[in-house]
Amino acid sequence: MKTALITGGSRGIGAAVAKRLAAEGCRVAVCYRENAEAAAAVAKEVDGAALCCDVSDPVQVRKMVDTVLEKFCQLDILVCNAGVAWQGLTQDMGDTDYRRIMGTDLDGVFYCCRAVLPRMIARKYGRIVTLSSMWGQVGGSCEAAYSAAKAGVIGLTRALAKEVGPSGITVNCIAPGVIDTEMNQHLGPQALRELADETPLGRLGTAEDVAECVAYLCSPGAGFLTGQVLAPNGGLVV
Ligand code: NAP
Repeated sequence: MKTALITGGSRGIGAAVAKRLAAEGCRVAVCYRENAEAAAAVAKEVDGAALCCDVSDPVQVRKMVDTVLEKFCQLDILVCNAGVAWQGLTQDMGDTDYRRIMGTDLDGVFYCCRAVLPRMIARKYGRIVTLSSMWGQVGGSCEAAYSAAKAGVIGLTRALAKEVGPSGITVNCIAPGVIDTEMNQHLGPQALRELADETPLGRLGTAEDVAECVAYLCSPGAGFLTGQVLAPNGGLVV
């Protein structure tokens, strides 16, 4: 039985990934930052564990990984999913928001990968999946910091794939399009409808669409795939 740690597993894509990997027979630990009740509900549903951790803090990340190893004795899969977004003109973005975006969306991915690697390298096995965004591929207007962080995630994924491939670890990235989660609810129903209309497949993505990609990248069938970017975006960015 494999053990998976999913950051940002209390809701949205992370919760769907937790349920999907549990259905594949994995033991699952979900991390959250604030939403303890939602994380506990996901953990209960998958018979797993919920851990409070702000991924932008390297000390908390090390503690979280130690806890998973103490509880489950191994760690086979890491899904770096925790993320936050900020939209607005670049000249209006303050230092605090900038650090929050970079700290969570890029630094957090680095800290989590760094913390799990020693154990994965020792066992010569690991599956790491990072979450970028279509904006990390092509850049999003009024999302400069988010786009930069998500482009950084793609660079980190590719470099790490080369570095740890010889240790039997694959590192792949998912760059979703517009997915119907809380992250996009502030856009309102009209804008979401327009985005669905702009999407060649005619709808927004679901958290389950993304979870399906994660499950594939963690499956034995994806054993020769590393350093790649898989883009569940309905054709919005090709
Ligand atoms: P979401 O519904 O807003 O959920 C975000 C999750 O991240 C929550 O579980 C939240 O925990 C957690 N989180 C936020 N900051 C954290 C921190 N500092 N430390 C630990 N956990 C933290 O987001 P989503 O739509 O599922 O997105 C998941 C990932 O996919 C993100 O990386 C996002 O950038 C990426 N993505 C999303 C879309 C989209 O359209 N939705 C598109 C492309 C990429 P709490 O519940 O405790 O706050």
